[in-house]
Amino acid sequence: MIDKHLQAQYEALTTNLATVRSTIAEAALRSGRQPDAITLVAVSKTRPLEAIQVAAQAGVRDFGENRVQEALQKIAAFPTPRWHLIGHLQSNKANKVVGAFQFIHSVDSLHLALALQRQAEKLQIRQSILLQVNISGETSKEGMQPDEVPGLARQIVALPNLEVQGLMTIAPRVEEPETVRPIFRALRILRDQLQQEIPDSSWSQLSMGMTDDYCVAIEEGATIVRVGRAIFGERIDRGELQ
Ligand SMILES: *Cc1c(COP(=O)(O)O)cnc(C)c1O
Repeated sequence: MIDKHLQAQYEALTTNLATVRSTIAEAALRSGRQPDAITLVAVSKTRPLEAIQVAAQAGVRDFGENRVQEALQKIAAFPTPRWHLIGHLQSNKANKVVGAFQFIHSVDSLHLALALQRQAEKLQIRQSILLQVNISGETSKEGMQPDEVPGLARQIVALPNLEVQGLMTIAPRVEEPETVRPIFRALRILRDQLQQEIPDSSWSQLSMGMTDDYCVAIEEGATIVRVGRAIFGERIDRGELQ
């Protein structure tokens, strides 16, 4: 590979990845867990396919995207990694995403779950999903309200072609990551409650933590962190994205 630009990109990304991985390992050990108990999802939204291939070469196995259209193009071109849908999903796109993504993190209503169930049944597969919870209560954020989660979870767990693996949340953007620790803690407490009340699902996954706060999230029990900028560098933002 003589391409200078790609070579430079590969080196920067490898360095970033090493930093993120050691930060994850330290936070895991601090919270009494093994580093490999935490899945790093590299959030590749807005990044070109080239950057994703460079990351895959550097050992990334999981990629996260938040827009269906953009993600499907990337998946078609590069199907080998595990793909995670982390952005808001409209029910009318359920038929496009089932089976394409290993994990759908953003299930936030019974209506959406039913649409996913119908498509998974048609394809005769079981689709892994997470329930997105709006712990912070910000009106701009998607997600179920915490107090409606047990009731909705009971109905969604009963759907035979969906495998509910746990919960996901997005914390508000703040200067000081310690500020959002209570949000991550609340998601874990809610998960523990669901484990008690609805034991027919494993509830093993907690998808929480992004570039600014993944350390705190891991200390509070995250099993999946979704990290974009710390791996790929700053994004040229597209308005509504964070
Ligand atoms: C963009 C995004 C991330 C990654 O954000 P960074 O700050 O780049 O780490 C994680 N989760 C969701 C839902 C996102 O939309």
